[in-house]
Amino acid sequence: MSFKAALITLSLLGSADVAQALQPTSTRPLPQSTNTGRLQSQVNPEDPYGRARCGFDEKHVIVYESTQGAQASDCNWSSTNPDQVYAPTFIYSIPVVVHVIQHTNGDGALSPATIQDQIDVLNEDFRAAQGSPGAPGLDTMIQFHLATVDPDGAPTTGITYSTNDAWHNDEWTTPGYWEVLQWDPERYLNIYTLNTVGYYGYYWGSPGSIEDGVYLWWRYVGNNSSPTAENDNYGRTATHEIGHYLGLHHTFEGGCSGGSCYGTGDLICDTNPHSSATWGCPSSESSCGSQVPVRNYMNYTDDNCMWEFTEEQARRMRCRIQWYRSNLADTEPGCGFAGAYCKSAPNSVGTGALIGHAGSFSVTTNDVELNVSGAVPGQFGIFYFGPNQISTPFGHGVRCVGGETRRLPVLQADFIGDAALTLDFTTAPASDITADSTWNFQFWYRDPAAAGATFNLSNGLELTFCP
Ligand SMILES: [Zn+2]
Repeated sequence: MSFKAALITLSLLGSADVAQALQPTSTRPLPQSTNTGRLQSQVNPEDPYGRARCGFDEKHVIVYESTQGAQASDCNWSSTNPDQVYAPTFIYSIPVVVHVIQHTNGDGALSPATIQDQIDVLNEDFRAAQGSPGAPGLDTMIQFHLATVDPDGAPTTGITYSTNDAWHNDEWTTPGYWEVLQWDPERYLNIYTLNTVGYYGYYWGSPGSIEDGVYLWWRYVGNNSSPTAENDNYGRTATHEIGHYLGLHHTFEGGCSGGSCYGTGDLICDTNPHSSATWGCPSSESSCGSQVPVRNYMNYTDDNCMWEFTEEQARRMRCRIQWYRSNLADTEPGCGFAGAYCKSAPNSVGTGALIGHAGSFSVTTNDVELNVSGAVPGQFGIFYFGPNQISTPFGHGVRCVGGETRRLPVLQADFIGDAALTLDFTTAPASDITADSTWNFQFWYRDPAAAGATFNLSNGLELTFCP
């Protein structure tokens, strides 16, 4: 979407931000000294540098909604629909470019090892990696890797280095460093490390905009590796800001405001509302008549105190990736992944047979059903499966499964051409299917009324099974 087109569809984050939102987006947000009250309340009382934990509320004054269809309303900036379809069932892998902006006095120098350290923290947190500080949390099935290919297709480390004192100090320049350095924001998560004056970090912009990126104070990049070790130096500033980048608000957004929890506050129901940010690391805290989510990455507790996104936060982030950042992430099949592939061909009764599935993906639960519709009524057929995806003309259709294939029991399509089979993982050949394995399925069926070959096939279905 072009910038102008985006303007047409812009919507505002909140009425209090209308005045700022009417400014051109290329205007750098107000300097700290002109902000009063609101910013002051966000300065971490324990921080030796007197900085605010996050500049999101000040910087993020304008939001463009998407034109990508009605489903985008499931996670726009006014409500959330945490539908099951957004549950973490497969992996989104996001390529990252880190722009290291150094000062001539040496400030801001970050080694590739420190950058990789930060990427590791992100993956520990977003994937709730076992044995890591993020382990108690929820696996969002969103992960990050340094880009290996740059926008021109050339190999890259995923890190750029520049030295510019004005840029390092986050000053307004023409053009701005973000305009010079940014890689295609639809395809890369741009992270800038610099002196984010007044803040630990912030997210600025909207999906695909020239500002779109995460801006981090260089001292708090990586895990405890900058010149000073402090309570907020465990790499969670990036986790928090990427939460904003993927559409999350602070858990204390809107305070104790009433109304639907999917349409007020942080737009999430499984994070209790609280009146203000939590500092330090309390074992528990109550506010607004309920327990404060003190361990949540979108609160303001110390880095070594936070370790979770909730299920609904995960669904909102995944919805944002699907509808607002659809070119960003590679999808990697994981347990619970189902994907149709290959094409079915017309048969003597219609446009062709389509394969589907029902039940869980669990080998233990043993209730995975394969089904097909649009086959020839009353005719026999079989589901079969194998390790490889191929595309080879076969009969009147296309054979989509290759490698060593296994045939399941013969079925007869009913009077409308449907058939179904529940897999039994305790019996061959379905006993070859184990947890976390991926297989490809297809339905072969007789079609004697068709001229020439007397059989046809459905399209293909890839399934990755769960424990
Ligand atoms: Zn924030």
